[in-house]
Amino acid sequence: MDDLQFGTRDKRGNWAPNKPLNIAPFWEGKWGQMKHFVIDYFWPWNLFHMAVTLAYWGLLIQPNLAAFQDFNLMWTLILYAVNAGGIFVMYGSVELFYYVKRKQGTRFKYNAKFPSENPSDVFWFKSQNLDNFLRSFFVAIPIWTLIQVLFLWCFTNGIHAFGWLNWQDSWLWLAVLTLLVPAIHEVHFFCIHWLIHQQPLYKWIHSVHHNSINPSPWSSMSMHWVEATAFHAEILWHLLIPSNPIVALFQMNSTAYGAINGHIGFEKLELDGEGAKTLDSHAYAHYLHHKYFEVNYGGEGLVPLDKWFGTWHDGSKAADEQMKARFRAKKEKLKAKQAKATPAA
Ligand SMILES: [Zn+2]
Ligand SMILES: [Zn+2]
Repeated sequence: MDDLQFGTRDKRGNWAPNKPLNIAPFWEGKWGQMKHFVIDYFWPWNLFHMAVTLAYWGLLIQPNLAAFQDFNLMWTLILYAVNAGGIFVMYGSVELFYYVKRKQGTRFKYNAKFPSENPSDVFWFKSQNLDNFLRSFFVAIPIWTLIQVLFLWCFTNGIHAFGWLNWQDSWLWLAVLTLLVPAIHEVHFFCIHWLIHQQPLYKWIHSVHHNSINPSPWSSMSMHWVEATAFHAEILWHLLIPSNPIVALFQMNSTAYGAINGHIGFEKLELDGEGAKTLDSHAYAHYLHHKYFEVNYGGEGLVPLDKWFGTWHDGSKAADEQMKARFRAKKEKLKAKQAKATPAA
């Protein structure tokens, strides 16, 4: 497929989409775009996360609920193996086809370079791939599993601020809550993410994730343990919101499996040889975050906190100018502050 029908490529070979990013159309009264938005909302990513959640619940968790009433090492290890295996297959297949075999070359690729071409001292063993892989499987996924075990312990022991709901009595609210899961994710992620961008938290914690300026699938969960804890703790909102374990686990899975979306590095993945069938990655907003750091703390604007707080970057030239003006103003402010703190002798 000709990616230049959809975007432009600069001298360095970096590709950018023609169309700027749009926040969810209902915020701007663009009702004509709602049909497209609703289809995109479900298909394919959220339906995938729901299918994975139902498989976790039906095949693994519900038949063995009693095992989660106390801390059980064997079941914790089983959950870890399932989580790690699921991520290995999902992230790994994008990595294998698009980064190792490079089946579509650099078509639709934002950054023309592949991480393996850039060894750097900031990474363990000088390799972004190895560093990101090890941090995911030995830091972030174990933490995800422990939070999952804590959550299941709360559920099986009846711990909830207002009591657990079941689908027979509360199906309408639970259906609404299921639809709100991506919105809860965006608000939670924006808040923790903005927080760890402030110093000294950035230096201590979040810089680990940002070492990958040119992210790839393994970068998705490459985090300092404090960030991984805050990231996966999102499910714990369901101990306060009237909820049900299936909705809560959907929240957890869309966070964990969904982390790949921002880090795919390609606008579209070609699914067949000719590229007639493609999959939209929804990666651009977070790609811009990795490129410019202080923009797009949230997601794609389902709850457009970035727009409201002035940190939204839609990929356009105007947004670029706005961002630069904001950075300049920040620098000036810092300079003025420093000048005040150190008066001339
Ligand atoms: Zn990221
Ligand atoms: Zn960040």
